[in-house]
Amino acid sequence: MPEGDTVWHTAAILRQYLAGRTLTRCDIRVPRFATVDLTGGVVDEALSRGKHLFIRIGAASIHSHLKMDGSWRVGDRPVRVDHRARIILEAGTIRAIGVDLGVLEILERDHDGDVVAHLGPDLLGEDWDPKLAAANLMADPDRPIAEALLDQRVMAGIGNVYCNELCFVSGQLPTAPVSAIADPRRMVLRARDMLWANRFRWNRCTTGDTRAGRQLWVYGRAGQRCRRCGTRIEYRNPDGTGERVAYWCPTCQR
Ligand SMILES: [Zn+2]
Repeated sequence: MPEGDTVWHTAAILRQYLAGRTLTRCDIRVPRFATVDLTGGVVDEALSRGKHLFIRIGAASIHSHLKMDGSWRVGDRPVRVDHRARIILEAGTIRAIGVDLGVLEILERDHDGDVVAHLGPDLLGEDWDPKLAAANLMADPDRPIAEALLDQRVMAGIGNVYCNELCFVSGQLPTAPVSAIADPRRMVLRARDMLWANRFRWNRCTTGDTRAGRQLWVYGRAGQRCRRCGTRIEYRNPDGTGERVAYWCPTCQR
């Protein structure tokens, strides 16, 4: 599942392959923007802001959000195009394809910040501000911790994996109110450390053990033994959509 680290990494790869290059093909397969052609434009930069991604080309900015299943595939050998492609960019032999993007729109570069103006401090951004993030986290004392962590207006970049892992390492139930967090600054610094440590990885790791099957404490481990105490990990999917899943150890988290 794409979270802030995935988007940051994706932006870094797009930048590596495309920055400074002139587009030789621009094929946008979203009806509203199908007539936009950025061919001939030079890619100035690719950057992430929370879970949002921007590719700036001259006066235009391609804004995408990966949501649950989206991705960008980039390479200097032919990258396969299938029916899920929403946009295809080429610069000579380099091809970048946006697949199953939850959001894809072409904005005016000078105003592309408007779509992310509501976000809280970006966990991987240059303007990361732990003090503000901690204040945002605690703003509504009765709010469940998981709900606050997933709210991109509190801080930007956390998805379900980090939300559940942060609750575990903090010893808190995802459903506990934020007022139960004794040290909110510590929690936001942990969030930052987790994303930072994973910004160059596709297989994220929060346990410090990068071996297969050992990377996470609780996420995706329903019914398996807690790595700390051996209790079976519990699981809930409250609205059935998978958008707010909870995994927790009933012994370590109270
Ligand atoms: Zn446990």
